[in-house]
Amino acid sequence: MSRRPIDLGEFDVVVVGSGSAGSAAAIAAARQGARTLVVEKLPFLGGVSTAVLDTFYGFYTPGEVAHKVVGGIADEVVAELRRLGTVVERPNTYGAGTGITYLPDHLKIVWERLVTAAGARVLLHAMVQDVAVDKGRVHSIVVATKAGLGIVRCRVAIDASGDADVCHFAGFSYELAGRDSPAQSLTTTFRLANVDVDLRRTVSRDELHRLMREAANSGLYHLPRRDGSDHITPIPGVTATVMTRVPGAAVRGEVTVNATDPWYLTEVEIEGRRQVLEYARFLRDKIPGYANSHLVAMSTQIGLRETRRIRGEYVLTADDVLQARQFDDQVALSGAPIEDHRSDDTTRWQYLPEGRVVGIPLRALLPRDGENVLVVGRCFSATHDAHAAVRSMAQCMAMGQAAGTLAGLATTNSRDIRDVHFNVLRDRLRDDGAILLLDEGAPCR
Ligand SMILES: Cc1cc2nc3c(=O)[nH]c(=O)nc-3n(C[C@H](O)[C@H](O)[C@H](O)COP(=O)(O)OP(=O)(O)OC[C@H]3O[C@@H](n4cnc5c(N)ncnc54)[C@H](O)[C@@H]3O)c2cc1C
Repeated sequence: MSRRPIDLGEFDVVVVGSGSAGSAAAIAAARQGARTLVVEKLPFLGGVSTAVLDTFYGFYTPGEVAHKVVGGIADEVVAELRRLGTVVERPNTYGAGTGITYLPDHLKIVWERLVTAAGARVLLHAMVQDVAVDKGRVHSIVVATKAGLGIVRCRVAIDASGDADVCHFAGFSYELAGRDSPAQSLTTTFRLANVDVDLRRTVSRDELHRLMREAANSGLYHLPRRDGSDHITPIPGVTATVMTRVPGAAVRGEVTVNATDPWYLTEVEIEGRRQVLEYARFLRDKIPGYANSHLVAMSTQIGLRETRRIRGEYVLTADDVLQARQFDDQVALSGAPIEDHRSDDTTRWQYLPEGRVVGIPLRALLPRDGENVLVVGRCFSATHDAHAAVRSMAQCMAMGQAAGTLAGLATTNSRDIRDVHFNVLRDRLRDDGAILLLDEGAPCR
């Protein structure tokens, strides 16, 4: 290296990645009084919640009676969104429970307000490239910035990168989706304006899918996924979609790669946008209400569902999810079904028993080979199937709140994260509105 790295300072807690999990973690850690930094490679906070999507799932159980299963910081996020504009609650016909649809640009501002008001510092356009680790402790983090490489020192690192980058650079163990287990497919989302929403409503979900299959089978449209969805947004006449489908992994040479491979990531970004044009053409040509629509936005980047999942002190399994297992150390709940988007043309769904939830144990956020690292969001410790259920943004926010609170409690009391008594964490989370047991969230209808 020809230049000395810039000194970016020392923090109690450094959160890598500012998605639903990382931003919530930064808010929680800073509120405990910890000197907190969140490092984000994009120019705004929010990750998938602002760069790709517009609907929170996971707040409620699906089924006849909806139970609220996530509260705390996640509730504050929704309240702030409502202050900025319209938020639409949509019953989810695809089975994940009621969705909360917002404007992604509003959410960028909400995350900035909540994170900075909590007292955390933010470093944007900053990509973590390496870490210095000794006996399982991450001491410092190497960040690529516009001014060159920088070093930030930390007492606790929270890996909220979605791709478990911190754990990867630290040499901790993880499962690579595609190589060690199936990989969920990738999706570039898009929005269309000037949609006649009333006319669109005359077409049922089944009919939409039949028309997709018919168009694909005609050979005139390249539509890899035949059961994609579109939904209304807070803006009249604008709909958003989750339709395109790019394989989550592929064999290149003799190696299986996924979106953590830089060449494959480039390939899938280009393929995702190519598919957007094709699906938009299909909608205009074939679906009532879309004849005069215009493509107005594509996601900032392709949506990655899973890449690396760390091996934690506990690995959440499909059996845990489907049995609605509860844990002594659970820090969050999830009632969403297993929603497995593979690379073929459909999506597989498996439900928990009606009205039941699985607990998310703290041990699933603790890498088994890391001492001062917590992992939150879509790279937490779970099998492929369990991950396919417990990765909605409400669950990511709840995991983030739990990890951030623990990191804050540990650093402000000069303790290691494993030395904080679980009861102390649990009581603080409850005081801060988190829901840790099903009966703590009221039935909603
Ligand atoms: C196409 C798609 C549709 C989905 N649909 C829904 C839905 O409708 N509702 C729902 O609730 N959930 C949905 N999900 C699931 C959910 O969106 C994700 O599981 C969740 O957003 C993941 O949040 P996260 O904070 O773990 O990760 P992310 O949101 O991916 O955040 C990770 C952050 O880390 C940053 N980062 C990564 N690496 C580095 C690095 N090295 N240095 C610095 N920063 C870094 C990224 O830029 C990003 O901001 C969907 C997911 C996808 C992909």
